[in-house]
Amino acid sequence: MKELVVISGKGGTGKTSVVASFAALAQSAVMADCDVDAADLHLILKPDTFSSNNFSGGSTAQILPEGCTGCGKCLELCRFDAINVNNGVYRVDPIACEGCGICSHFCPEKAIEFGPTINGQWFLSETRHGAMAHAKLGIAQENSGKLVTLVRAQAKKLAQEREHELIIIDGSPGIGCPVIASITGADLVLAVTEPTMSGRHDLQRVVDLAKHFGVTLIVCINKWDLNEDMTRLIEQDANQQGVTVAGRIRYDRAVTEAQISGLALVEYASSGAAQDMKLLWENIADLLR
Ligand code: SF4
Ligand code: SF4
Repeated sequence: MKELVVISGKGGTGKTSVVASFAALAQSAVMADCDVDAADLHLILKPDTFSSNNFSGGSTAQILPEGCTGCGKCLELCRFDAINVNNGVYRVDPIACEGCGICSHFCPEKAIEFGPTINGQWFLSETRHGAMAHAKLGIAQENSGKLVTLVRAQAKKLAQEREHELIIIDGSPGIGCPVIASITGADLVLAVTEPTMSGRHDLQRVVDLAKHFGVTLIVCINKWDLNEDMTRLIEQDANQQGVTVAGRIRYDRAVTEAQISGLALVEYASSGAAQDMKLLWENIADLLR
């Protein structure tokens, strides 16, 4: 079984459009939307969910007012300033609480509850292009790396159950914890970039990250014809770093029209950028083989 991860140095480079088209072209793959902070693959693949589950990324403390004598021990011990007192009433600020559990352990009255919090949800679904694992992290919730790892594991389980040989993962943008959780141990990582100064800079960061974690990185340049000089520079950079340029996708209004219609580009059009996408997929399928 192979894992292909599609990432980008920043959001908005067309990463999810690429994943949706790959899902349509692969025919028998399992998809995983690991962009859990801003999941949007479902807008195109329109999943029909058959399993919804809560995700707990950690624990928080809660003071039970009826048991609290106001001794102040928790306030003294909390290193994260997560406990405040108002008119003699002790409370935990759930945003500031880091879930260390110290206050609960040392409260002499056992008046602090300490337990898992629900930070989001994860789902298993059917789509018209195969099964999909995806998730939704709650607003201002952390531990997205942990949720990405969970979604990846669920996608792998689905692929094993259905005897599919490929998992296509929509990774997070950037180089942070959720991206690391998306790419570690993957067979192939495709970085989608655009021909801008920031695109060039972001790609370098992604190259460094891939090298650090020992994963094979390839690159494609989206809307390459909007700045041909910059496209050439990015391709030169890639060649110097030993990174394969797997393809170029031209600027095409059909990309936006396909998104508005809730379709993958290759379902909506057959020429222009859709043709580039097919060529890119063929190159990647070769590399995966
Ligand atoms: S340590 Fe327990 S009893 Fe003391 S103030 Fe905190 S919650 Fe109340
Ligand atoms: S669990 Fe830790 S961080 Fe949270 S309120 Fe208690 S001592 Fe502070």
